[in-house]
Amino acid sequence: MTDKVNLFDFDREALTAWFAEQGEKPFRARQLMKWIYHERVTDFDAMTDLSKPLREKLKATAELRFPTVIADRLASDGTRKWVFRYDCGNSIETVFIPEDDRGTLCISSQAGCALACPFCSTAHEGFNRNLTSGEIIVQVWLAKEMLNCDRHGNNRVVTNVVLMGMGEPLVNFNNVLPATRLMMDDYAFGLSKRRVTLSTSGIVPAIHALREVTDLSLAVSLHAPNDELRNQIVPVNARYGLDALLDACHQYVQHNGQHGGVTWEYVMLRGVNDSLEHARQLVELLRGIPGKINLIPFNAFPGSRFECSKRGDILAFQRYLTENGYVATIRKTRGEDIDAACGQLVGQVKDRSRRERKLSRKEVETL
Ligand code: SF4
Repeated sequence: MTDKVNLFDFDREALTAWFAEQGEKPFRARQLMKWIYHERVTDFDAMTDLSKPLREKLKATAELRFPTVIADRLASDGTRKWVFRYDCGNSIETVFIPEDDRGTLCISSQAGCALACPFCSTAHEGFNRNLTSGEIIVQVWLAKEMLNCDRHGNNRVVTNVVLMGMGEPLVNFNNVLPATRLMMDDYAFGLSKRRVTLSTSGIVPAIHALREVTDLSLAVSLHAPNDELRNQIVPVNARYGLDALLDACHQYVQHNGQHGGVTWEYVMLRGVNDSLEHARQLVELLRGIPGKINLIPFNAFPGSRFECSKRGDILAFQRYLTENGYVATIRKTRGEDIDAACGQLVGQVKDRSRRERKLSRKEVETL
């Protein structure tokens, strides 16, 4: 590790401030971002509209820090997964999912996750640390680079980014926010707010804070229609219950004028949360909040104690929601043959949480 600054850590505002500290004009930030994100140039000497002294200064004080790519796998359905190593103990996973009309990149925000949802393979790895802003945004940069210069002949581009990989993004608020700003900044990746989605398990104070500073799309890992069940499968619910969560989501949607509303994610676990009574409770729970429900067939992983709901039960659940006025989709399982499907991302995490597989009530309360 060097003591140079990692320019990937800076959104436009931070980069402008950093240049000001060096006695440089604000437009330098825009110039540099165009080289990095539009031209994809990482060699300061090749940034020809920067003065020679400035290029020398950049070489002496700054760098663009890349992880090591330790795996690059292509599934039979075109899904592609990368494993990026950031330091000796930690690697994370990033997945690209091509579809007819879009290409979605699922990125990670933490090395592991401390929230211990028992159906999630990331949780089984434990938790090491938050990723920096640079470590988050470089996943988008590298994915685009590798998709464009593709040894597999796949030239799709990234049209959507979802923070649904490893980690709970809102526990890493201060690093996630600048990264999402870069995703939506025209001088960087220029994606619209509808195409950048942050998925949270429900860190209520952070949802309130988020609505004041951004209007990206919000998804919530709901997975249960009542507190008793949600406490078991999304343990952070013991700290922030459904009433508070739904209120925060409602306010987020109202404040940001998001007509599409919230995407509610609901993993289908056989015999746990998949009955028609659960569907009925879900309809009652979400009444009045705009949004759509995404039913996710559970993807098994070694050591998991859950099974996926039967196909017929998923379809009946969807039918009930649809008949009661909700848009409810069933997520197609993608990338299963390379362990890139939803809930299967593990990377390699040097667990520092020193916990059993379940988060204690005390730990949940300190989040
Ligand atoms: S589902 Fe999300 S919040 Fe829960 S343990 Fe997995 S990564 Fe963390």
